[in-house]
Amino acid sequence: MGAIEKKILTKDYLTKSNLPASDYVVNPYVGCPHACKYCYARFMKRFTGHTEAWGDFIDIKYSNKPINLKKLKGKSLFLSSVTDCYNPYESKYGITRNILEQLVDADCRITISTKSDLVVRDIDILKRLPQLKVALSLNTLDEQFRSDMDKGSTVLQRLKAIEQLHEAGIYTVLFMSPIFPYITEWQKIMETTKNIVDEYSEIYIHKDNAYWADLAKTLHEYCEKAQLNYVNFFYHDELVRQKVNKNG
Ligand code: SF4
Repeated sequence: MGAIEKKILTKDYLTKSNLPASDYVVNPYVGCPHACKYCYARFMKRFTGHTEAWGDFIDIKYSNKPINLKKLKGKSLFLSSVTDCYNPYESKYGITRNILEQLVDADCRITISTKSDLVVRDIDILKRLPQLKVALSLNTLDEQFRSDMDKGSTVLQRLKAIEQLHEAGIYTVLFMSPIFPYITEWQKIMETTKNIVDEYSEIYIHKDNAYWADLAKTLHEYCEKAQLNYVNFFYHDELVRQKVNKNG
């Protein structure tokens, strides 16, 4: 570990979300020691008062208020959008575990996304969340490239974690993001994991739509042939627009 740690009090763990597939998000920490080079959440730093680099600080969020489960009825919830809820500090503080314990009786769809195999520690609770999907984020099988890009678990640890979750009866997702054009070997990743992943979600925001349209077509043909379920979130902006229009 080695980041600057600070405990902070939050009024409410639930935050309303504009993400296409979730009504609420929970971010148990501020900052993220996984320090991915491509991290989209670095903008958060300017709201924190921290002077350290992204990845070198972590605020641990405590709350005196129980999560309002009524608010979540029939909704979707995502952990986490601007941190990794299973970053290494979770093994010390257990904030995510405590939040999940509170969510056991919630009537809502929950998605957890992580780059860490620490998630398997909580299989006992995860099994008690009936509307749960757990996504392991992986965009390469090349361990050297992976370790250049992030400080999460190794490729092998993530693959092992998906397998353990799947064997425990938990709905697993492979979250392939970002896709590095001409580097991410998406087909190899899918072939490696197709027996232990229940759904594929691929998310990326990129201006070069021709590349993504082509990839989407190939992906569709491949998935149809291999009888794999997948969700295409390539056009994230468009999905957000559709959601805003739908909700007025
Ligand atoms: S795990 Fe997610 S939030 Fe954490 S540094 Fe990587 S991209 Fe950013």
